Amino acid sequence: MTYQNSLEFAKQLDRDDPISYLRKEFHIPTDKEGNEWLYFTGNSLGLQPKITKKYIKQELDDWAKFGVEGHFEAKNPWISYHEFLTDTMAKIVGAKPIEVVVMNTLTTNLHLLMVSFYQPTKTKYKIVIESDAFPSDRYAVQSQLAFHGFDPDQALIEWKPRQGEVLLQLEDLEAILDAQGDEIALLLIGGVNYYTGQYLDIKKIADLGHAKDCIVGIDLAHGAGNIQPNLHDSSVDFAAWCTYKYLNSGPGSLSGLFVHEKHAYRKDLPRFAGWWNHNKETRFNMRQPFDVMSGAEGWQLSNPPILSMAAIRASLDMFEKVGMDVLLEKSKKLTGFFEYLVNQIASDSIKIITPSNPNERGCQLSVQVANADKNLHKKLTENNIITDWREPDVIRCAPVPMYTSFEDVYRMVNVLESLL
Ligand SMILES: *Cc1c(COP(=O)(O)O)cnc(C)c1O
Repeated sequence: MTYQNSLEFAKQLDRDDPISYLRKEFHIPTDKEGNEWLYFTGNSLGLQPKITKKYIKQELDDWAKFGVEGHFEAKNPWISYHEFLTDTMAKIVGAKPIEVVVMNTLTTNLHLLMVSFYQPTKTKYKIVIESDAFPSDRYAVQSQLAFHGFDPDQALIEWKPRQGEVLLQLEDLEAILDAQGDEIALLLIGGVNYYTGQYLDIKKIADLGHAKDCIVGIDLAHGAGNIQPNLHDSSVDFAAWCTYKYLNSGPGSLSGLFVHEKHAYRKDLPRFAGWWNHNKETRFNMRQPFDVMSGAEGWQLSNPPILSMAAIRASLDMFEKVGMDVLLEKSKKLTGFFEYLVNQIASDSIKIITPSNPNERGCQLSVQVANADKNLHKKLTENNIITDWREPDVIRCAPVPMYTSFEDVYRMVNVLESLL
């Protein structure tokens, strides 16, 4: 696609955009005078769909009306409420319904998955992560290593960018596996890196790991709703993601969890148990010996928070209506336009560190500004442009196809240029 650097061109792209109407279906935050923010932090907390209130109100009303009977009598019976989320969530990450469940929060799920899938032995116990993995993931694997009696400093291997580079190369992961594969038990990799926006080839990572008998897990916090990861076909063993970033389900909302079908019927896997991963048919008999459910539902522990699930359901219904294919098509155009405009800025101090290949990124661009400090981010905010600042010098910006317009992107880059 060839772009032009003009407001009129941006407006034309909006007129040609078949899903531009979606923006009106979200609450766009404003400043005190009522001017809309240009919101580029959907990678941190997605905006609120206007229908969310209605979905939550339905459950509040049914709770008022039915009390405990709502588990069965509510319009959307709570007893099986999580099942309303499964099919759409499975489509979004490219999985079969049996492979997916929504439960807990992300870091909790990573731990529960490692209980089952990180089974170290004396000789095969190391874990590989990306060197700039999201801190929570790093703490999670460090604490798992320590829990199993290993020294995290010795047993945690970092897959690093090469000297002077910021992006990861698969050959370097391959080299790590060639050298130490026999000692590595688990790869836990961010499918889309939160810092650089790099979207890694998940299938290749799975193939490389499996060739050395390693379990492969993917954190899709920055992937779900942003890229199409085809989890089933990739054959990764497990994955987890939060739903409050690109999936617009509200602050601190629940996490999605994927366990590949090849593990769905494995009752031998070690795992923690609660009444919610016990066989549904006999769950309420209460005195049965534990009988674990098949598939991803077999990792649940507790009955889930319905109010939070209602918000997820509202968002997933929007995704279902629009479809990932349409969203991804707009996303590529929108981020392509953003990239084009940033590259037009006549300044050596600005550089995009996200891959330029649209197939190696989602919507996020991480813009590095030489000698910038947090002041630049502050000035953007004063101009109603909401971005995310990462020390020492990177501004992360996510034009989200559901609610960001081409005009937003044009205006944003214009202000950025004027501030440099
Ligand atoms: C956002 C994010 C988290 C946050 O974890 P919570 O348990 O939901 O607080 C963890 N890991 C990654 C990679 C993230 O992007």
